Amino acid sequence: MSIDWEQLPDARAKKKDRANYKKSLRASASKTSQSSVISELPEGSLLGILVTIHKNRVEIVINHERCEGVFSPALLAQGITDFAVGDYVVCTPSPDGSLLVLGRTERTSFIARARSDRTRNKITRHVLAANVDVGVITVAVKDPALHTQFIDRYLVLLEDGDVKPVICVTKTDLVSEEPVSLDVYKEMGIPVIETSFKTRAGIEELKKVLFGKTSVFIGQSGVGKSSLIGLLAPHEDIATGEVNNRTGKGTHTTTGSNLYEWAENSFIIDTPGVRSLGMEVVRKEEIRLLFPEFAEFAAKCKYHDCLHVEEPRCAVREALKKTGMLGARRYDSYVRMMQE
Ligand code: GDP
Ligand code: ZN
Repeated sequence: MSIDWEQLPDARAKKKDRANYKKSLRASASKTSQSSVISELPEGSLLGILVTIHKNRVEIVINHERCEGVFSPALLAQGITDFAVGDYVVCTPSPDGSLLVLGRTERTSFIARARSDRTRNKITRHVLAANVDVGVITVAVKDPALHTQFIDRYLVLLEDGDVKPVICVTKTDLVSEEPVSLDVYKEMGIPVIETSFKTRAGIEELKKVLFGKTSVFIGQSGVGKSSLIGLLAPHEDIATGEVNNRTGKGTHTTTGSNLYEWAENSFIIDTPGVRSLGMEVVRKEEIRLLFPEFAEFAAKCKYHDCLHVEEPRCAVREALKKTGMLGARRYDSYVRMMQE
């Protein structure tokens, strides 16, 4: 199976509608703190990739090797901690041989979880993984049971962070037929890959889809994420190995990395919390913007800020009544999310 990644967004929503959608999304929420973002590399500085965050230090792969890094006094003085595994960090060498982290580049995408900010009394995004290309939404055919609502929730989260989804169905050895049709997702242009850890069915296809990308696995506990990650990166526990970093240069990996390379230029980010994400991070009024198939209809709703639940002359609900235009199950998931 070959996927034209450039075509994916098109298949999921008409291009212009989607662009407008995203614009309103950007306007509706200030994403993450921008204060540590550096847009131009200062002279003499180096660019590395953050692979592990410890309490008082970080690990960075830079110029072929893994280095220790600490945040610059300027960042610490401002209390800036908005760094995540996968961030490209701007550093300068310090005399003791470690690196001083000055900031990071703007993220192209992210996976975040909610963090309540008590002092400002609001929920903020705590980014767990940065610059992620693919989110592998992992669901099992059974044990635990497959509910499409979970898929819809994860899709909202990924859409929020501009991460492209892939749906990976696991444990296909346990049933002869898929318990629920996932056609609605295929029609949205989302790759659906059926796998079994036990028989190894679909594993090559999964590898093909994830090759050359940075991926994260998300899904309920027990669906088989660890098993799949273990298959992709069987040597993750081996102390060192010659691999390439994202810039294509050689590097060494050691145990304990949260970002690792399972094939050339192909990375998995697996940090605490990333596998079992909640939805709380997305604000109610944003959810409608994160159902891409609503876009072409939403433009025709009477109210431009229509939530598509009970407003009069709602084009989304009208489209729902005309069979085949909009997935009823997806809309049900949407209403549930709105009601929580
Ligand atoms: P995680 O919590 O999502 O990381 O799930 P695990 O990878 O730990 O797997 C949970 C359980 O499901 C383990 O007992 C695995 O052996 C089992 N399991 C994982 N993948 C498969 C599969 O493809 N088929 C079957 N029959 N069992 C599986
Ligand atoms: Zn509407």
